[in-house]
Amino acid sequence: MHEFDLIQKYFNWNGLPANVSVGVGDDAAVLEIAADEQLVTSIDTFISGVHFPHDTPAEAIGHKALAVNLSDLAAMGASPQWFTLALTLPEIRQNWLADFSRGLKTLAQESACFLVGGDTTRGALSISIQVMGVVKKGQALTRSGARAGDLIYLTGTLGDAHAGLESILHGFELAAGDKAYCQKRLHRPTPRLQQSELIRPFATACIDLSDGFLQDLGHLLSASRCGAQINTAELPLSKALQTLPQDIAMQFALSGGDDYELLFTIPKNKQPEFEKYIKKGGDGLIKQVGVITHHTDQIIDENKQLLDQAGYSHF
Ligand code: ADP
Ligand code: MG
Repeated sequence: MHEFDLIQKYFNWNGLPANVSVGVGDDAAVLEIAADEQLVTSIDTFISGVHFPHDTPAEAIGHKALAVNLSDLAAMGASPQWFTLALTLPEIRQNWLADFSRGLKTLAQESACFLVGGDTTRGALSISIQVMGVVKKGQALTRSGARAGDLIYLTGTLGDAHAGLESILHGFELAAGDKAYCQKRLHRPTPRLQQSELIRPFATACIDLSDGFLQDLGHLLSASRCGAQINTAELPLSKALQTLPQDIAMQFALSGGDDYELLFTIPKNKQPEFEKYIKKGGDGLIKQVGVITHHTDQIIDENKQLLDQAGYSHF
C-alpha cells in the first residue's frame, strides 16, 4: 500500500465542516476563525514503550493520543475544532491502521474535532497530534490565576490509570472487574470537555492532571505564586481504589500519572453560585478537595504535614 492510499483510506474523512476551507490533500490546511475568538493550540507526542505499553490495542492508542490533547484544551477552557496528525509507523499493517483510525475518529466525532492534515513517515511507532481550539477573546483559563483563599476543585477520581498501568507492567493485583475498569481509565481517558464549559465562567486557574495530582497542582501553584492545603481524606477515589490498602491507594491518587482530570480554583465568594450551577449541569463528577494558601509552592494536608510533589518525569 502506497503512503497516499494509506492517507486517503484512513485519514481523509468525510463531512468537512464549514470552518475548514482546505483539509487533507493539499500542502497545508486553511481554517476559518471568528474575529472575536482566539486560537488555542497544543501538541503531544506518544511513543510506544514510553507513553503506552508496546502491546496497547491500536484503537486505544488512537483514542488516547487525541484524548490527552483534548484534555489540554479542556484545561484552557477552549472548545476543540481541528487537529493534525504526524504518524510514524514501522510498517503498514492494515488491521492496526483500521483500529487506530477508528479509535481516533470516534473520539474526534464525539468532540467535534476534525482531522485537517498531517505527515506520515516510517520509523519506530510514534504519534504526534497537534490540536487546535477556540475560546472567546480573553476567556482562556490559565495556570496562573489562583489566589489565596480560592477553593480547589477536581473532576473525576484519582489514581485509577496508575493502578491500571501497575497491573499491566508489574502484575499489581486487582479484582477482575477493577482491573478492567482501571485499565480502561488508563487506555481510554475521557477529556473533560463538558466540565470545562461549566467551569470556565467561574474558575481563576485550571490545569489538567497528566503527571500526578501533587506534581500538577505544584505547577499551578508555581504559576500562581501560592500554596495549597489538601484534604486528603476527601480526595475522590473510585470503588476500585477504595478496595486497596489505604497507603497504596493514597500513593496512586497523589502521585500516579495519566488521570486526565481537571484541577481548578474558584473564588470563595462564587462558591454558592458555582455549586448550584454544577448541580444543574454536571454529572456529580466535581468535588472540592482543598484551598489555596499564601505559602508559595507548599502543599500541606489536613494535619499541616508537607506533601512531597514528585510525580512522573521523563528525565
Ligand atoms: P507534503 O509532502 O506536501 O507535505 P504529504 O505527502 O506529507 O505532503 O501530505 C499530503 C497531504 O496528506 C497533506 O494534506 C497532509 O496534511 C496529509 N497527511 C499526510 N499524512 C497525514 C496523516 N497521517 N493524517 C492526516 N493527514 C495527513
Ligand atoms: Mg508533509
